[in-house]
Amino acid sequence: MAKRSYTKTPMREQAPEIRNQNFSEVALGYTLEEGQLEATRCLQCKNAPCIQNCPVMIDIPGFIKHIEVGDMKAAHEVLSKYTNLPAICGRVCPQEKQCEMTCRLGRSKKFEPVAIGKLERLVADWALQQPIETVTNKKDKGKVAVIGSGPSGLTAAGDLAKLGYDVTIFEALHAPGGVLTYGIPEFRLPKKIVEKEIETIIAQGVKIETNVVVGKTITMEEIQAEFDACYLSVGAGAPNFMNIPGTSLNGVYSSSEYLTRINLMKAYDFPNYDTPVQASKNVVVIGGGNVAMDAARSAKRLGAKNVAVIYRRSKEELPAREEEYHHSVEEGVNYHWLTNPIEYLNDGTGKLKAVKCVKMKLGEADESGRRRPEVIPNSEFIITADTAIEAIGQGSNRVLLDTFPALQLNRWGYIDADVKTGETNIPGVFAGGDIVTGAATVILAMGAGKVAATQIDSYIQNQKVHV
Ligand code: FAD
Ligand code: SF4
Repeated sequence: MAKRSYTKTPMREQAPEIRNQNFSEVALGYTLEEGQLEATRCLQCKNAPCIQNCPVMIDIPGFIKHIEVGDMKAAHEVLSKYTNLPAICGRVCPQEKQCEMTCRLGRSKKFEPVAIGKLERLVADWALQQPIETVTNKKDKGKVAVIGSGPSGLTAAGDLAKLGYDVTIFEALHAPGGVLTYGIPEFRLPKKIVEKEIETIIAQGVKIETNVVVGKTITMEEIQAEFDACYLSVGAGAPNFMNIPGTSLNGVYSSSEYLTRINLMKAYDFPNYDTPVQASKNVVVIGGGNVAMDAARSAKRLGAKNVAVIYRRSKEELPAREEEYHHSVEEGVNYHWLTNPIEYLNDGTGKLKAVKCVKMKLGEADESGRRRPEVIPNSEFIITADTAIEAIGQGSNRVLLDTFPALQLNRWGYIDADVKTGETNIPGVFAGGDIVTGAATVILAMGAGKVAATQIDSYIQNQKVHV
C-alpha cells in the first residue's frame, strides 16, 4: 500500500505548444502507482458527501478503497453498478462543481479535494483494456425503443438490457454517441474511448440502428405500435444564432456545424477525410461555455494564427469549466471580455473579413441571477476575422417533435416530462436528458437515463399485471 499523500497527485499533460498543433488527448491519465498514491488521500468518510453530490450516486470511497490496494477489478465492479460510461465521465464531468466540490478533504481549506474524476478514468481505462464480457441474460421482459444514442439514451438502454429488456436504439446520425461523438473534440474525449464504452453497452445485448431519423425514416406511431415503451433522448442539438447582419457570409459557422465537421466528419484529418472546414488565419468565437472553448481550441489546432473568444460578460461569469479555460489560455487563445458582436463585415466577395463589436458593462442581475450585460454607447470597434463561430447555446431539434404533436412541450420548446420519473403526458412515452432540461451535462443526462430505465421497468411490469 502506498504511503499517504497530502498533496494532490498531478496528471501528466501534453505541453501546450505541442498539443495546440495536434488532436491527441491533452491529459495523459494516471499510472497505477499515481492512482494508488492519490487514492491514499481519500478519508473514507462515513456518509460521504461526495456520493450525495454525484448525480448517479457512485459509491466513491468504495471504488477508491480498491484502487489504493491495486485491485482494479474490484474497483471496476463497484463503478459499473452505477455507471455505464465511466471512462467518458472521468474525462468530461464537471467534478469540481459536483463530487469534488463537497469532498471533505477539500473543504478543510488546507488541502485540495481528492481527484475523484481522474481516479474514475484510471479504473475505466483499465477496464477498457480487458476483454469485453458479453451479458447473456434473457431479454424477455418486454421491448423498449430508445430514440437518440447520446449519454442519456445509452445509459437507459444499458440499464434496461441488464434488467432483461429487448432494447433497440434508433440514432439519426451514422455513428452513435450523440455529443460525445459529434461535439466534444478528440483532444478532450478520444473517439476510441467512446466507441469502446458503446461496445460494452452493445455487449449487454442492446441493438443500435444508425441512420434512422425518427419522425422521418420511421414515425412515432410505428414505434408505439411495435414497442411496449419508449425513451426519447434526442438532445438539444439545434444551434441558436445571434441573427446579426452578415450571418450568411462565408466563414460564419455555428459551433454545431464547425465541431461536427471536425469530430464526426474528421475535418482535422484532411485529406484522408474530404469534408474540411475552411483554412483560417484569424478566428473569432462568440460565447463563453465549454462549447466555445472546444471551438476555439479546435481552431487553434487547425492552424489559425489568432484565435479570440468574445464574451459579453466578464471572466468571473464565464460558464466554461475552469480547467478548459486555463487549457485554452495555455494554448494561445485570447479573450475579449465584456464584448458583443453586432455585425459581420463582407470583404466584397461574400466572405467574412471582420467582426464589428461593442463593449459592454454589467448592470442589474437578470432572471438567471447573473448581472445583465448592457451596451456602452459609442464603443464600437472592429476585430479582423476570416472565420467566426457562434457558440451561444442550442435548442431542441424539431424533427421528431413536429411530427408527434400529441407530445406536450414546455414554453421553451423542450419535452414537458417529469424530471423525477421521465414520464411525459403520453403513457409509455418517457423522456430525459437535454431534450427535457435544455443543454446541460453528460452526467445529468445519464442520471435521467437511469431514472427512466427504472420507471420504464415499473410501467411495463404494471401493464402486464393489469392486462
Ligand atoms: P445528445 O448527446 O445530444 O444525444 C442526442 C442524440 O439523439 C444525438 O445523437 C442525435 O443525433 C439523436 N437524435 C436527435 N433527433 C433524433 C431523431 N429524430 N431520431 C433519431 N435520433 C435523433 N457536458 C459535460 O458534462 N462536460 C463537457 O465537457 C461537455 N462539453 C460539451 C461540449 C460540446 C461541444 C457540447 C455541444 C456539449 C457539451 N456538454 C458537456 C454537454 C453534454 O454533451 C450534453 O449535455 C449531453 O450530451 C446530453 O446528452 P443527451 O443524451 O441528452 O443528448
Ligand atoms: Fe473520500 Fe472526499 Fe469522498 Fe471523503 S468526501 S470519501 S475524502 S472522496
